[in-house]
Order: sequence, then C-alpha cells, then structure tokens
Amino acid sequence: ISKFAGYASLNSRVLMLLGQLEKINGEAMVRDAETARQVTAKILHLIQTQGESAHTPTCHNTRDVQTILNILYILSELLTVGRGRRVGVFVSKGGTGILFQILLSNSKELPPSEELMLQLHSLLAKVGSKDRKFGVKARLSGALNVTVNLVKQNLQNAKLLLPCLQVLRVYSTNSVNAISLGKNGVVELMFKIIAPYSKKNTSLLKVALDALGALLKSKTNARRAVDGGHVPVLLALYLDWHRNDTRHRHMLIRKGLLVSLRNITNIKLGRKAFLEADGMRILYNSSTECLPVRTLDPLVNTSSLIMRKCFPKNRLPLPTIKSAFQYQLPHVPAAGPVAQLYSQPPGVDDVVDESDDNDETEADTENDTENEEDEKDHHTSNDDIETDLNKLHPKKNPGRPFEELRVYERFFSELSEDFQVILFLKNGSSVYFISNNSVLSLNKDSLLKLKMYILFKKFFISLEGSSNWGSDCGSEGPEDEAGEGAVLEVPDTALLLPLHDPDVYVEMVKGTHSVPQYAEVAYPDYFGHITPTFREPHQERVYGVQRSKIFQDIERLIHPNDILDKVVYDLDIPSCPVIEDDGESLKFNSQFESGNLRKAIQVRKYEYDLVLNSDINSNHYHQWFYFEVSGMRVGTTYRFNIINCEKSNSQFNYGMQVLMYSVQEAISGRPRWVRTGTDICYYKNHFARSSIAAGGQKGKSYYTLTFSTSFRHKDDVCYFAYHYPYTYSTLKMHLSKLEALRTPQIYLRQDVLCETLGGNSCPLLTITAMPESNSNDHICQFRNRPLIFLSARVHPGETNASWVMKGTLEFLMGTSPLASSLREAYIFKIVPMLNPDGVVNGNHRCSLSGEDLNRQWQNPNPELHPTIYHTKSLLQYLAHIQRAPLVFCDYHGHSRKKNVFMYGCSVKETVWQSNISATSSDLQEDLGYRALPKILSQIAPAFSMASCSFVVERSKESTARVVVWREIGVQRSYTMESTLCGCDQGKYKGLQIGTRELEEMGAQFCVALLRLKRLTGLRNHQHLLDLESDIIGSHSCPTTYVMDEDEPSFLEAIDYSAESNDEDAEPENEHGSEAHENPDHLDHLSDSETNHRD
Ligand SMILES: [Zn+2]
Repeated sequence: ISKFAGYASLNSRVLMLLGQLEKINGEAMVRDAETARQVTAKILHLIQTQGESAHTPTCHNTRDVQTILNILYILSELLTVGRGRRVGVFVSKGGTGILFQILLSNSKELPPSEELMLQLHSLLAKVGSKDRKFGVKARLSGALNVTVNLVKQNLQNAKLLLPCLQVLRVYSTNSVNAISLGKNGVVELMFKIIAPYSKKNTSLLKVALDALGALLKSKTNARRAVDGGHVPVLLALYLDWHRNDTRHRHMLIRKGLLVSLRNITNIKLGRKAFLEADGMRILYNSSTECLPVRTLDPLVNTSSLIMRKCFPKNRLPLPTIKSAFQYQLPHVPAAGPVAQLYSQPPGVDDVVDESDDNDETEADTENDTENEEDEKDHHTSNDDIETDLNKLHPKKNPGRPFEELRVYERFFSELSEDFQVILFLKNGSSVYFISNNSVLSLNKDSLLKLKMYILFKKFFISLEGSSNWGSDCGSEGPEDEAGEGAVLEVPDTALLLPLHDPDVYVEMVKGTHSVPQYAEVAYPDYFGHITPTFREPHQERVYGVQRSKIFQDIERLIHPNDILDKVVYDLDIPSCPVIEDDGESLKFNSQFESGNLRKAIQVRKYEYDLVLNSDINSNHYHQWFYFEVSGMRVGTTYRFNIINCEKSNSQFNYGMQVLMYSVQEAISGRPRWVRTGTDICYYKNHFARSSIAAGGQKGKSYYTLTFSTSFRHKDDVCYFAYHYPYTYSTLKMHLSKLEALRTPQIYLRQDVLCETLGGNSCPLLTITAMPESNSNDHICQFRNRPLIFLSARVHPGETNASWVMKGTLEFLMGTSPLASSLREAYIFKIVPMLNPDGVVNGNHRCSLSGEDLNRQWQNPNPELHPTIYHTKSLLQYLAHIQRAPLVFCDYHGHSRKKNVFMYGCSVKETVWQSNISATSSDLQEDLGYRALPKILSQIAPAFSMASCSFVVERSKESTARVVVWREIGVQRSYTMESTLCGCDQGKYKGLQIGTRELEEMGAQFCVALLRLKRLTGLRNHQHLLDLESDIIGSHSCPTTYVMDEDEPSFLEAIDYSAESNDEDAEPENEHGSEAHENPDHLDHLSDSETNHRD
C-alpha cells in the first residue's frame, strides 16, 4: 500500500479514487481482495471521522463488490462535502462515464447487488445535474435501460426506487432520451407511481412527478399521456392534493402535477382533453381558493398559465380587420402588404383562421408553436446589422437629374434672396402659405360651425342641474340659443398657451380633409392643453394585478351568464355608430380628427371591451387610440380593455399610464391631459389573430391593454388617449400663431411642400435671421449659413414627436439671445409633419397608402408617398448645389423604451458590432456624428447617451436617417426617439414624460446645435478633432447595440411562453440534437421559483 500522506487536496483525492475505481472495475484478476476491503473500509472510516486529513488508497486491483461499494461510499462522502467544485472536478475527469461502466458491468450479474445499484444511482443522481453531457453518456453507455428495468422491478422497494427515479429525472431532461424512455413505457410507469392519491412516500412521488414533467415536454410523450387518458387523472389527483394538503406542506407535489398538465397542454390534443375534463373550472376554482395564501403563488401562476393557454380562442368581434374607413388609392403598389390586402378575394374572413384550432392531427412536426416574439426580434435584429461594406460607405447618390430638381429652387429663395424688397417683409404682412392660400380662404359658413354648436348645446344641456355648473351659467338656459359663443365658457388659455387659439383651431379644422369627413371637434384640441404643475411619477405596479385581471377574463368562460356583451358603439354600422341610450352604459365617440376607436362592448356593468381601428388600407397597427366617453357615474370604477393590441410588450407594463382629459376640469380652468389609470397591465389575450393579420404566422393572439379609472364629475365628457394628442389642425394653428412671434430680425417663410393623397397640404418652414443689412457682406453671410434640416411625425401615433417639434419651433422663433445666435448661425428647413393624412385619420403608423412612410425613402413614389418624395427631392437639390445640410434629424417617438435618444449612422460602429473583417481604412471615421448626441446628453435632462445607437441595420435601409446619410452624404443624420413613457435616469428619473419635458427637449435640441456650431466653427483651425473628441469623451467606446426593448423581464410573467413550446421539432434519430441537454431544468420545481418564463 502506498500511502498518500496528509495534505493533498481533496480534489486530487477524488481523482485518485477515480483511478482506483476504474482499475477495480476493469481488471478481471482478483488479488488480495481481503486487504483491499480492509483498506477501503479503513479509509472510509478515516474520512468519516477525520474529514480533511484522511489518507487515500491507490493501486489495488480488485474486482469486488464490497471494495467498489467502499470506494463509492468514500466518493459519496467526498462529493457531499464542498459539493459543487468537487463534483465539477469529478465530472471533468470522466467520473460519470466510469460510474456508467460500473453500472453496466454490474447489472449483468444476476441478481445485481441491490446495495451497489443503490449507491451507484445515488452517486449518479448527485453528479447528474452537474454534467452537461449526462444524458448522452447515459444513452450511449446503455444505462437508460438498466435504470428503467430497476424501476420496473422495484416498484415496491422505495429505498432503491428513489435514487433510480432521481437518475431517471436527469435522463429525461434530454429530449432524445425523453422520446426513447417514452417508447419504453416510462410515461405509463410514472403514472403508476404518482396515482392514486396517497401521502405515503411523498419524496418518491415528487421525484416521479419531476421526471414525468420532463418527459412530457416531448410532444410524443404528451400525446401518449393524452391517449392513455391521463389528463383527467392528473386533474383528479391535483384536486385530491388541493383538498387534502390543507397545511400546504406538499406544494411541490401540487406544482409537479400542474407542470405535467402544463406540458401536456402544449399540444392541441392536450388542450382539448383538458377542456373536456372540465379543467378550466377545476383549476379556476382551486386557484381562487389558493389566492389568499401568498406562498401558493406558484400554483396560481401555473394554473393561470394553463388556463390562458387552453382558453378557447375567440373571434375578434368585427366583420373584418381592415379599417372601418375606405380610401381608394390612385393605384395599388405592385407588391407589399397593400397589394396583398387588395388581392385578397372578397368574402375571405380575415378576422380568424378557421383551420387554426380545429386541426385534429398531431404530427410530430406539428407547428403550433408560438415563439416568443421578443426573442425572435432579438435574433433577427442581430442578423440585421449591415455587413456589406459597399453599402456602409456612404456614396452620394445624385438621384434625379438636376434638370428635374431645379423646380425645388423655389423652396430655397433665401439662397438667392437679395432683400431689395425687405420692407415688404418688415411690415409684417402675413406670408402664411404663400404658394397655397387654401387654408385661410375657406368660407366660414361651413357645416362645422353648426356641428360645434350642436355639440356645445348637447354638452350644456347635459350640464343642467349639476350644482358646480348651474350657478355659472344659470342665465343661459337652453332656450337662449342666440349667442352660440356664450353657451360654453372657453377657458382663457391665451396667457398660458400663446400659440393656442380656439377660434383659429376651428378655422384650421375647416381646411383639414379626413377620409370619414369628420365634422366634430374634440374638446381637448379646441380648448388646448396646459401641462399640469404636479409631478406624474411612473405608476407602481400592484403585485398580482395582471393575474387578477386574467382571472376576471377567465370568469367570462366560467360564468357566461354574467356577461352582458352589449355593443354600445360601432363604426361598422354606417348609419348609427352610437347605439341607443338607456342610461345603463357609457357613451363613446371617436369621430373627430385623430380619433381612433372602432367599437365598444359593455361586457359587465362597469367593464368595456374596446376595439381599435386599423390604419387605413391596412389590417393591423392597432396602438394609437383617442376617444370620448360620457354618461359616466361618479365614484364608480370602470375597467376598460383595449383588446386588439399587437405588440408583444408595452411600456404600460412599466409604469406608463393612459391620458385623460376632462371637459369639466377644462371649463373650471384646468384644461389639461393628465396621466390616469390604475391596475394597468398589458398581456396576451384569448382573441385569435388571423394569419392574414399576423404576417402569415398562425396561432397568434392579440394583446389586451387594461386600465381602470373612475370619474370625478357628474355629466362630464372625458377623453382618453394613448399619448398627448396633436392633430394636423393643431399644427396649422400653431404655425399660423407662429407668425405672431415674428420680429423684424426673424426670417420666417412658410411654404406648402406638396399636397397629400388625402388633399391636405404639407407645410415646409424656413427659419433664419434676417441679414443685418442688404450689404453684400451681410447678404453673403446670410446665404452661406449652413442648413439644418428637421422633420417629424412620419408616424402618426408618435404624437410626442410633434410636441418636441413644437418646442423646437417656439425656441427658434424666440427672443432669447441664444435663439438669435442660432438663427444667425443656420438656415432651418423644417417639415413638421411628414404624414398629415395619417394624423388626421387616426392612423398609428401609416399614411393613406397603407405603408409606413419611413420605409419608403429609398424609392418614394410621387403619387403614393408625395411628402417623402418631395422632402427627399429638397435634400437632393441641396446635394446638387453643394449645400447638403450639416444636420438632418427626424423626430420620432418610441413606445418600448424610456428616455430620449438618437440613432445615427457610423461605419465603424457597425463594423464593430458585426463580425465582418474590415481594413483599417474602414475604421477611420470622423467622430463628428457623436458630437450632437453627446452635447444633448450633457444639456437635456431627458436625453440618454447610453440608449443611442450608431449601427446601420438592413431593415432600416429605407428610413430617412440611413438614406439621407448614404445618398445625400449627411454625416450627422439622425432619428431622435422620445419616449412615450418617461425617464429612468437624469433629473426626470421615475417620472412620466409630459408635454413640458417634450417641448423642453425640442428647445434643448436647438441649444445643442448652437454648441455644435462652435465646435464645427473651430474646425477651420488646426486642432480639428481634438476638441470634439474632448466633448465626445476620450474613450469613445461604441455604445451598446440595443434592441427594440430594454426592459428586464417581470416577476409577474408578461407573457406565457409555455403556449409556445420552446422546443423545436423533436429530433428523429438517437444521435440528434443535444441542444436541449439542460440539467438546470431540475431546478424548475424549487420553491423560490419566481421566473415563470420556463
Ligand atoms: Zn417612429
């Protein structure tokens, strides 16, 4: 015996034992068995008594059960103490394989030593979860069958059964093993162990359930369980445990049963069997009983997940998902979503796919999976980085020949202006819409005024008798019809809202053309909005709010008689969208500019399902909403559910509230939108989304945005909106009032760039400083100012972009010294609303052509995308005359991120984020593109540099930012994204964003441009980049490339990915993919489970 004295590390002891064990098992010659037995027994004793200072044996070639057992005992002791690391060493040195060899060779002895089998399985169970290849090794060594046979032969022998089941549980986490074990009857075997209900030997039961749960992840096994009639068995068992486990000591067993049900219901047959076995009612009732006990949350959550998955998919209550409004295009684009929409044969039901949930065949390749949308986005986004270096190197594209572009010269008269008629401008006469006077020349006796009056009167009458109002206007009864202006006291907002004027607003509305030919004006747009003085922090999410909302939804199925299902508003009924009024329901209206609400259904006394209208000539993009509510009761809490949202997640899950405007508040001197709503959450619902509406994907659902609110005033008229509305008529009003801010020093010109498809004009503004005089020098300085080109609101639902633009415009027209310097430094060309038609008609994303205009910049069609076509032409004209702008920026809103940030274009940062090899010359890049965002992050509190990205994506290659960078050659070409929600950094951290902050952002953008001027001005001197890189920061490492969404995942699962079976099609052959080898699955059933996304 060679001794290994004292101080060697325990790890090396494990190794030596391993070597010993291999030899003992491998060699046939039995020599000195007695000695070996004694020695190993002694060592075991030593280890047990002295722990760390034990001696270890070597070199004894024996094949003897007792010796092996002793060594196994020692190993077991060693691996138990300080477990993790030693098990790691054991595994890395091939320990698992040796254990399997021993298992195999000893299983051939008849009968095999029970004690040896027990020890081997105990050890295997111990190392199994730490060995990533455990499942493969087991299968290849043939150990699966050994264990299965042991289990079959020892069903009554709990002592041996337990470690065998523990090992089986690890085997089963490998998907190939799971199929093979299923074939060998292991699913049936597990059901034998777990049923019928008995509290005997619960630890055995728990392990068997874990193994069963893992096996049922395989669709073949799930089908086997359904065919074997086990779904009712599982439900009955669950109910037994629910009833008998009154002190909740066996939570894990109850959870295990649910996990099995959860996995079985991943297949269609499983869901069917669940419903047939009255699973909804069983889980609903048991969960309701569990709700008060917080420790039972995992049961409630898993039950809720199963119920949501099995909830029969409903049809959206609509005749078609195409917009309720029709607009005939001059011609249909040759390809793309609009072409598809038009080529759809008449009579096709686009609301739901009938084939979707009725398919009885459950092939192995069945595709009822629904991948987590976010994950998918994530992957494609990574693939989305532009790797074509040719495309990355901006190559100016002259575009149309100069002869064609010459007509745009008229939009740049400042570049040739000689100011011989300067007096004309100085006398202040309006030059509003010089080239198209249609807006102001409309005659006044339009239908509109009448409509307004009727509305006012209606409102007034409804106010009669209300105590807080009666005294104010008691003298003006309904019979007093003479003075229409007197009926409503318009709050005097002139002082607070310098650019707002209700009368001008009404004038502007007359010139606005909407597809539904709206004749009413929404009060908020008429009265205006004054930003509240109080802070509006992010709404804290109440624990369990989503769950309780979902339970209310499930109750619709459990107690169908409680559901009213009363349609109270419906745009699809052409004659009469408002249903008769019996005083028991709220009244809804959305027929005004930017309004969006298609249908309202009263589902319970104080609960309404709301359906949004899709963008015109489209069948999706449901997000923006803006509607009126009246007929409310004071002090009652109403629940509203917008049931056809499409995005898989929303800032409504992260503190964002909806906006509400009360007319009663407004006439009491507080005309304002306020953040409103409690119990807000956003989750996947049970309304099926047809593949037509989901880009060909089957089995998709819609999402619900739910919020609750109560009303403070009787007989109020309130409005709800996704974000602070900003209509096209509001823009025109602001632009006309902007004229009033003009001073003799300001050069302001307003042109009409073009007409939209819907007949609205697209304004183009030019703002700069008048030349100091008409001396040659001054005129020369005037003409040679660099250009700044700004645009906004290409996406109608991003109203925040308009508020930022309002801030920019007001700052530019301001009297501050900064504003004068800015005007003297630059010529501003601004298209404040690139998509007036979308805004007017309440679209979320598109123009009337049904297309996202910010994907048309590469090849805009003059007929279908006139605003983009002509804006691009302006830029092409500038490029031709060598006057490409210094900065181009398109203002947007972001629905899924916080703060304000920019996207820019950098070759270097794109190359860095991809794996393409690039020469060093590719990486030489002027860092100038970083200066503006960097300055903004220093001066604008809402702006976050960390959220900026300068990566060029393939999917964005037809956006304004990328096209202006690539084709026009503007290095500083940006998209500026403002959050719809709020900030999580800086001065506004924890607050929701308001119009004050948005307007401030627009003003700060101007200030930043002035600082940029100083920097670029210095460039003519020697130290070019030094100063700029000073500002940019010395180590300008690339910003992280952030995807669409950067919120952490929730404690309360936002989505239930289990509906999506995360597995792909199961591998057919034995040696197929081992990608699912994930021993961590074992941890699924831990009590501390908080993440339900498994
Ligand atoms: Zn946008």
